[in-house]
Amino acid sequence: MSTENYDILIQGGGPVGLACLAWCLQKFPKVKILLLDRNPINDADLVAADSRGIALSHGSKILLDTINAWPTQCADIHRVHVSQAGRFGRALMTREELKQDALGHIIRYRDIHLTLRKALRAIQLDHPNFKWHHIDANTPSNEIKAKCIVHAEGGLFKKQDWVESGRDYQQSALVGLVEVKDATPHQAWERFTSEGPLAILPSHYGPNILNLVWCGSPQSSQARLQLSEVDFLKSLQAEFGSRIGQFLKIQDRRIYELGLNYRKEIVHGNEVWIGNAAQTLHPVAGQGLNLGLRDAYLLAEKLSMLFSKTECATAADIFQTLEEYAYSRKIDRRTTIGLTDLMARVFTSNFLPIVLARGLVLSTLQWLPPAKTALARQMMFGRR
Ligand SMILES: Cc1cc2nc3c(=O)[nH]c(=O)nc-3n(C[C@H](O)[C@H](O)[C@H](O)COP(=O)(O)OP(=O)(O)OC[C@H]3O[C@@H](n4cnc5c(N)ncnc54)[C@H](O)[C@@H]3O)c2cc1C
Repeated sequence: MSTENYDILIQGGGPVGLACLAWCLQKFPKVKILLLDRNPINDADLVAADSRGIALSHGSKILLDTINAWPTQCADIHRVHVSQAGRFGRALMTREELKQDALGHIIRYRDIHLTLRKALRAIQLDHPNFKWHHIDANTPSNEIKAKCIVHAEGGLFKKQDWVESGRDYQQSALVGLVEVKDATPHQAWERFTSEGPLAILPSHYGPNILNLVWCGSPQSSQARLQLSEVDFLKSLQAEFGSRIGQFLKIQDRRIYELGLNYRKEIVHGNEVWIGNAAQTLHPVAGQGLNLGLRDAYLLAEKLSMLFSKTECATAADIFQTLEEYAYSRKIDRRTTIGLTDLMARVFTSNFLPIVLARGLVLSTLQWLPPAKTALARQMMFGRR
């Protein structure tokens, strides 16, 4: 391991760490920067990796386009239909009423990851001060000297060894690819069931192959994982009803445990935490990576103001810059974490007054366009 001194060390080569690195190099190309990446060197070794569909907002697309890291294999959402199983209340959002080309885009996690790796390799050619080290869990990193350490180690709920503040929703998500007969193209469905949200989202495989995210108690999710294909599809159809069409096939079922972990303080001395290393959210609103990319972009912007001004930033300069960064992220983090937590709790409650209230909320969204637009804008662009 190199004992050189670096300006910045980025620990974690997931989507958020890679994007932050690319924006740093783009904004202040001379920076001496090191990436410690626990993923394999060869992309081919990642191919069987995480295939869950991730909803990225239009705001994230604009950010990733700036570093040529927008994946080609993606499916656009033109309409979102929200309902609750067996209760009144539904809302439909369309791209026309929000005056957008798309309400969001669905991309597999591994395609986002691979596209960022490719974009970074292209950027690396012109940046000799950037070093990309592939490490394993036993490689010591405490010998590396860097003025600023960016933690982008990410992680999934329950697998994270830090828990400062959070909530266990006692839910897991079963994800997979489901084939539907004559599905409506570019339509996303979100249905709130008594055990958790059930989302069916477009995929780039074609209009009839859709991404499924079915949240339920850990026991129900495990049981669904074990079901035969026929029984699984029967139980999915019973939960969803016939509106979407007939479910024909299910493939690539996997389970993720869900919950909220977040750090109250995201800066300590010369260290800063971004993406899932700073907050891990329930996927109900599809906000985790979108928020993480905004973290990464704004951190690169703040660091560029410091490093493009001076070549010898002091510890005090770094601390002040990171504190400014933390301050600038307060509202967006608080709103996104709060809104997601509220949705995860409210939409799974079976307490009758809450059930009635959420029916009213859905109906209000349907009949009060300004409320719908405000919510959609928060989901698409966050707060900056
Ligand atoms: C079922 C499910 C559905 C989701 N859907 C959505 C969605 O629709 N929209 C959305 O925006 N978000 C969604 N998310 C959240 C999204 O997946 C995360 O927010 C995102 O992956 C965070 O990226 P990251 O780079 O911070 O972390 P990660 O993706 O976890 O990457 C972190 C990387 O750091 C590496 N690492 C770990 N420890 C170390 C170490 N010590 N040193 C070096 N490297 C290390 C890991 O190997 C990994 O490659 C979903 C999550 C789940 C579970």
